[in-house]
Order: sequence, then C-alpha cells, then structure tokens
Amino acid sequence: MKHTLILIGAILFSCASSQKSIEFTPTAFGNTITSKELKEHLYTYASDDFMGRETGTEGETLAINYLKGEYEALGIKGGMPNGDYFMPMQLNAYRESKTIDCNNVLAYIEGSEKPEELLVITAHLDHIGVEADGQVNNGADDDGSGSVAILEIAEAFQEAIKQGHRPKRSILFLHVTGEEKGLLGSKYYTDNPVYPLENTVANLNIDMIGRIDSLHEDNPNYMYLIGSDILSQDLHDVSEAMNKKYVNLELDYRYNDPTTEVFERGRYRQNRYYYRSDHYNFAKNDIPVIFYFNGTHADYHAPSDTVEKIEYDLLEKRTRLVFYTAWEIVNREERLSLKE
Ligand SMILES: [Zn+2]
Repeated sequence: MKHTLILIGAILFSCASSQKSIEFTPTAFGNTITSKELKEHLYTYASDDFMGRETGTEGETLAINYLKGEYEALGIKGGMPNGDYFMPMQLNAYRESKTIDCNNVLAYIEGSEKPEELLVITAHLDHIGVEADGQVNNGADDDGSGSVAILEIAEAFQEAIKQGHRPKRSILFLHVTGEEKGLLGSKYYTDNPVYPLENTVANLNIDMIGRIDSLHEDNPNYMYLIGSDILSQDLHDVSEAMNKKYVNLELDYRYNDPTTEVFERGRYRQNRYYYRSDHYNFAKNDIPVIFYFNGTHADYHAPSDTVEKIEYDLLEKRTRLVFYTAWEIVNREERLSLKE
C-alpha cells in the first residue's frame, strides 16, 4: 500500500513537471520590455539631434547608426547576406525629382528548428524632417514608438536565447526607410527580399503605438489591430490568445474594414489603414500581417509629436503584446496557415 502510494505520487509528480515544461511561459523575457528602457531609447531617437529623420538626410543617417549600434550592443547580427545591417537603395521619392540614397536596417536571429521560416517585424525608421521655419518634426509616436518597440522586442528574444530558448523559426527585425515618402523602403525590401517571401510566415508592423486617440480618452487600455484575420485566421487567433493570456489590452478592430470613416485633414474619409503602412507590401504578397496602431491625433505629422507626450506604460504593454504574439508565431509547431 505504502509503495503504491509512493508510485502514484511519483507518477503525479512527473506529470506535474512535464505539464510545467509544456506550459513554459516567456514572461521572464516579456518583462525585460520596460517603459523605462523604451523611454531612454526614444529620448535619443526622437530628439532634435535626429532632425526629424527624413529619408536621405543626415538625421536619418544618425537614426540608422543608432539602430545598428543597439543591435551590436545586444549581440544580434545584421540581416544582410554578408552580415551587414544596412540594405542600401536609391529611391525615387513621390513628388521629388531627385534620387535619394538611403538604407533599411536589418537585424536577424536564426531559428533553431525551422530556420528557413521567417517572421518579419517592421517599423519605419524615417519621419518627415524639419519644417521650413526650422521646427523639427520629432516623430516620437510616428514612428519613434515602433522603432524603439522593436529594439526592446529584439532584446527580449536575445535574453531568451541566452537562457537556452532560441526561437524555432527565424526573426528579421526590419527598420524600413522611406515610409513617409510612400512606403518605399518596405516596397524595396519586398521587391528585393533577402529571405524568400514564400518562407515569410507573417509580418507584424508597428506604426504609432505610444499615444491615445480622441476616441479612447476615457479608456486608454486599447490598441487598434488591422489585418489580423484578413489572410490568416490562425494569426488572428494567436494574437487574441496571447493578448488574453499575457496582456489584456482591449483590441479594437474597427479599422479592419478599410471603409470605416475617420476624421482627417478636416473631413471624414475612409480610413484605408490596411493600405497605408509598410505591412501592405507584405500583405500584397500573400503574407499575413498585423498592423499595430493607436490611431491619429492632433500632433500627427506635426512638430508637436514629441517624447514627453508618449504614454510609456501603455507603450510597454502594447510592445509586450507584439512580443508575445511573435513568440507564439515563431515557436508554435505549425506554420500559420493561410485562408483558402
Ligand atoms: Zn508612420
């Protein structure tokens, strides 16, 4: 009898411990994404020194060097075939006659089990530069918030690797240029992909996640998600599950319908957000996307989009949701499936 009890006890114990390993949670790594570090990055990245990060300007050069320096410090290698961080290109910008020399920034973590399958996380590194009267458009929200979010997400994955949890699939941290001139850097990447698009399992695009729009002043615990169920139900379901499990933001899907109207530049228009940031260049290639967004605000594309107006605790929470969603996409058994 006694031996039987011990045996049952041993079985229960081993079940409990194997259960534990199945239910491994990445919260120790998600918790390395902090409002404090996001703020420190952003106070540099969206400072006047960076002169509004306009594509092809000295300000943008400072931005790309900052990003590269941070990846080097983290020990994450460049994503170009030769290990470089910069993807050089010449762009013909919308409404400008001259050709612009500029760069995307790529950092890469190789997966352990399915390295050929890739998740791409994007944010645009550029903004709209300096006004004629000399005021700097700092673009703290647009898209300083997304740029620093990616740095923190990369750090969390790197911390996991140090503790023996390398992701099964590979991850490309892709900071694209030329977004403000017409989604040009992401178009250049998808026209000249470093990693085959058919092996690219999803794109998570972060563009403006540090503020609260007028529709949510009384309920700031939200984020708009756009596109999550358009190409893949799996992606939407993963995103919802990770939010419920780890973050509990109110996910607002009203702009998933591109015809939902939004008040912009003095009148109501169809939002068309699905087509308006870098994820669209992936979506048009049948790669499932989620666009993470806080909506527009009075400081959108104005010199008043500054660092002290960012909600850092909210930025932390939203960044963590992107991290947990990314974690599940790269570590789940099955590749995200596309809708028929
Ligand atoms: Zn933007």
